[in-house]
Amino acid sequence: MPLSPNESSSADAGGPSAASPTRVTHDTHDWTCPFCPLLCDDLTVSAQRDGTLAVSGHDCPRLAQALATYGASDATTPAIVDGQETSLDAALARAAAVLGAARRPLFGGLATDVAGARALYTLAAHCGATLDHLHGDALTPATLAFQDRGAFFTTLSEVRARADLIVFFACEPSQRYPRFFTRAFGGTSMAREFVFAGCAPDPGAAGLTHTQSETLLANADPFDTLAIWSALVNGRRPETFPADARAAANALAALQARIAAARYTVFVYEPATLPHPHAALLIEALNRIAKAANLTTRAGCLPLSGDDGALTVNQAVTWLSGLPLRLRVSAAASQTGGASLDYDPYRYRTETLLAANEADALLWVTSFAMHALPSTLKADVPAVVLGHPALAEAAKARGGATVFIPVATPGIDDTGHLFRVDSSVVMPLAAARGAALPSVHAVATQLLAKLAASADGEAS
Ligand code: SF4
Repeated sequence: MPLSPNESSSADAGGPSAASPTRVTHDTHDWTCPFCPLLCDDLTVSAQRDGTLAVSGHDCPRLAQALATYGASDATTPAIVDGQETSLDAALARAAAVLGAARRPLFGGLATDVAGARALYTLAAHCGATLDHLHGDALTPATLAFQDRGAFFTTLSEVRARADLIVFFACEPSQRYPRFFTRAFGGTSMAREFVFAGCAPDPGAAGLTHTQSETLLANADPFDTLAIWSALVNGRRPETFPADARAAANALAALQARIAAARYTVFVYEPATLPHPHAALLIEALNRIAKAANLTTRAGCLPLSGDDGALTVNQAVTWLSGLPLRLRVSAAASQTGGASLDYDPYRYRTETLLAANEADALLWVTSFAMHALPSTLKADVPAVVLGHPALAEAAKARGGATVFIPVATPGIDDTGHLFRVDSSVVMPLAAARGAALPSVHAVATQLLAKLAASADGEAS
């Protein structure tokens, strides 16, 4: 395969030897990292002849951990059926049989890119499947708040270029998104104020220049904080609060005055780390505070979420169906008289469906990392796993009722597209290594072809 303009090859300094063949590296410059929704695109990744991968220039523990899961055996990882290694064709045939026999299949995980999501949606429509993402619990509250009251989103570019006051609400971004502060604020000369509300200062912000950080109500209950804050935004005066809430009211009133004086305030939060199951109430309150600020100045929210393709799959399913996850979709409904789409963010939760025996087969898709099958999956429920090659042993250990098909990771062994954390930018992914593994899109398309052929055979 010819190299594209941002790719190059080189031999390392060790030189060839009988015991250690020349380690030719395949470098991809300006590579986009697919392992968190920041999608950093300023990296150079080197694929070694032994199948390992290394990144130079930047230090990200999450990326290093992800790259360590790839190795020499990935390209030769076999498909597995009922604990036995088998051919891809045999595994596809069994997987199609499992899905064809299921009356209430569940497509879970859904850790894939745009093309994978599109093919899985089409397959789901054929099977009458329910769709839920691995991070459905984080995705759902943001969707609910958006549906109920609307939202004020901003983008990484806006944050970087305009935000002079950043309020981090009950979160520590660098824990899950190690390069967040570098990508959003690094290398700029704008003076900024960081306020960590309901949390300790994030150590990841410590090295930034032109910024000053402070904390506010670090140990307060987030619901209490936002209840007081919302009342202040609606015109209540701090001195009218009960004595035990007055200090918090005064602190939040002072913050509200700073928001009014700021040029552009951004509220940063992480849906996954907000207290569940009522995180939607917090997200809604933050958006209403941002809305109030926009009456006199500018403000927006930046939710940090979308790991493992969650934003991408949600976007793709929404534009294909008109409804977001969690969703049951059935093209066959025209024959049965039922609804073709059923959106229910509560009922169609993976763990709940499996625990209640409401799914009789699971298609589990995890192409970015080795996410294990859900703990509520019972041993006798058949599972089809389209997964990271390193999941092969776990699939083999489950034994019966399990089909495993190793798939390519977009950005490692296949090209692809993912939505960035701010939902407004779709990033193309280059294949850093290119091991001969099928994509989720290719496997889902083949499964659909087998199911369609089987249906045609039964009809004739
Ligand atoms: S912060 Fe996220 S996108 Fe950036 S290098 Fe680390 S894992 Fe990759």
